[in-house]
Amino acid sequence: MSAEPDGPEDRLRRFATIWSRAVFPVTSTSLTRPEFEQLLLPLARRLRVALLARAFDAEEGRAVGAALVRAHCTDPEALSRALDCVEAYLVLYCGEDGPQEELRLRSSRLQHAMAAGFAQALRERTLAEQEAIARAALQAQGVVAQALHASEARFRAVFEGAAIGIGIADLDGNVLQVNGALQRMFGGGEGAFRARNVKDWTHAEDAPQVWKLYDELVRGEREHYHVEKAFYRPDGTVLWTNLTVSLLRDADGRPQYQLALMEDTTERRLLNLRLRYEATHDALTGLPNRTLFFERLEKVLAAGEGQRFGLCYLDLDGFKTINDSLGHAAGDRLLVEVADRLQSCATAPGEMVARLGGDEFVALTTGPNARHEVDELAARIMNALLAPVRIEGRELTVRGSIGIVEGAAGERSAAEVLRSADITMYRAKSAGGNRFELADPEADARAITRHGLTTALPAALERGEFFIEYQPLVHLGDGSVRGAEALVRWLHPQHGILGPDRFIPLAEDTGLIVPLGRWVLEQSVRQARDWRERYGDGGPLRINVNLSPCQLTHPGLVQDTVDILERAGVAPQALCLEVTESALIGADDDLLKPLRRLAEMGVDIALDDFGTGYSNLANLRRLPVSVLKLDRSFTQSMQQFPADPVDLKIVEGIVSLAHSLDLAVTVEGVETGAQAEQLRILGCDTAQGWYYARPGPPERLHQLALVDSTG
Ligand code: C2E
Ligand code: CA
Ligand code: CA
Repeated sequence: MSAEPDGPEDRLRRFATIWSRAVFPVTSTSLTRPEFEQLLLPLARRLRVALLARAFDAEEGRAVGAALVRAHCTDPEALSRALDCVEAYLVLYCGEDGPQEELRLRSSRLQHAMAAGFAQALRERTLAEQEAIARAALQAQGVVAQALHASEARFRAVFEGAAIGIGIADLDGNVLQVNGALQRMFGGGEGAFRARNVKDWTHAEDAPQVWKLYDELVRGEREHYHVEKAFYRPDGTVLWTNLTVSLLRDADGRPQYQLALMEDTTERRLLNLRLRYEATHDALTGLPNRTLFFERLEKVLAAGEGQRFGLCYLDLDGFKTINDSLGHAAGDRLLVEVADRLQSCATAPGEMVARLGGDEFVALTTGPNARHEVDELAARIMNALLAPVRIEGRELTVRGSIGIVEGAAGERSAAEVLRSADITMYRAKSAGGNRFELADPEADARAITRHGLTTALPAALERGEFFIEYQPLVHLGDGSVRGAEALVRWLHPQHGILGPDRFIPLAEDTGLIVPLGRWVLEQSVRQARDWRERYGDGGPLRINVNLSPCQLTHPGLVQDTVDILERAGVAPQALCLEVTESALIGADDDLLKPLRRLAEMGVDIALDDFGTGYSNLANLRRLPVSVLKLDRSFTQSMQQFPADPVDLKIVEGIVSLAHSLDLAVTVEGVETGAQAEQLRILGCDTAQGWYYARPGPPERLHQLALVDSTG
């Protein structure tokens, strides 16, 4: 071993050497082995670049597969060896120190693409060859015709030396001559053809037009035809061919003979079958893969009325931990073992097990009794997982979560069924795992819209699907409109107008709340300026904007707010930020610092939904708030008459405490005049609710404020 470690270029060359050694013996190239290696080197480099690219693209694999065909590696064995070689050595020699798991995944996707590119190039080449053969046949016509009469030496040479099979028969179908290549294709000597008639070679898989075309040709109605046709060999095996048959005429133009040119495509068909197998099966476990499973499920769902299906969607619990702690190889062996056990659970006709990827498997059952059978299938699977798996001397316990979907054919698409099963599986998992759950269409619908809304949120902001409604804040003493709270809505292209309760929690989960909140602030502040321009200094309308907890901790909060106010030319005193009580209770000084900064500048901070959390009145002193917003629940308790005296006392207490701390009190959810009057007597300052106005477009506020200032 040399002391110098190899550079990437050396390792790449080594990879190309191994590749060329493996494939060279099965190519029909006229190159020497070293020349062939030179030819593979750029292909190896392309694979390496694709493997390590920042953005992965499997298409390179297709190009390499096609290049193999051009390099005369057309034997199925050549592809097979090339794939084995890539599987074993690409990551090893070209993987640098990248993340092995990702690289292996890329390598296997490159292999699939290579196989696909190879198959396509071969198909294209076959078409081109067929054309070439047909052209050769046309050219041969004259030669053959002459030869048959004159037995010309040059024709003999062509006929015997040809790599493709050639046969000549008269117009009644009696075989007159066959060349060596054709004899070899049929696996025997001339005996197989002696005294035979073309019509003897019918085959069960003959397409209907095969013999129709034949009849037209021998009647002299067509000059040639081309078909794919199977023949039985004398030993009973099947030979597949590309067959071109041409009509030969004599010197006067009368039909005289038929000439058949045959290319053996048996191997190629086998390769296609094998490629189809590889494209539809999981390489690790040998189980059908997602593609095949989808095809099957689609077929089942398209079946006629009365057909039912049942599906178990299995995800192993804690597989990642096993993979991370024991390594990839152990994880793979566990998956193979699980696959075997699953397969033994679903052996009845109409049942099928597939691996969807990772540690996710599905088992399908069909038939009128699927409802009952799918339960049993799930129980069998749970049972099959019970026995521990022995790997590298350890006993591993395998557990899984199963989502079950059952239903009638023709109601849902395969994708919908699978999504429902996936959601249900997650429900089983979040209930602790190691169990199965049955799909519940209502729970599904909720989860699906939740999921759908979450993924649609970012684009919705860009597309301007959000809008703001304003709800007036009214002074309880004189009934004048003092300001408005901005409440965001989403005009969803499918679901119509959605309230904030439907999407604010999702926006908080995904972090979109920060740009969305900034947008709301910007719009509302601009709206406040419009109002001020309209009413002058006589009635400056204040604007209340809600802040989510995530916005509070976002470092840009103070700067963004300052910028927005300055850009709109609106004084900080016109803005009130509403923060829920629960977001501030227990907050440390770091969290409060941005709010304190804003408060010092003159922005009001309101404590929203006050009274719903763990209200700690003593805590209020610490907080930089200037407004308390009493939660709707207090107002609601004043609905009946007379109001509960205890509730009244509580509100009275809160109001007087708030006032002693210099806090203004706003009440929410005022729906009747009686409530408004009661709250006024209790000393509340401002109110908000349907009694005054529902949230609405900004113009509505103009009217309210105008009525107010004129009346
Ligand atoms: P909130 O801040 O407590 O807003 C008041 C809610 O009470 C609004 O519901 C409003 O439509 C409703 N409401 C007003 N008057 C009455 C009434 O008389 N009776 C009843 N029953 N309800 C009334 P909405 O618009 O569905 O907003 C729900 C919550 O969504 C808000 O509660 C607020 O926490 C949040 N939200 C709204 N807009 C935004 C926003 O731009 N950013 C953030 N972070 N949250 C927002
Ligand atoms: Ca609010
Ligand atoms: Ca509130």
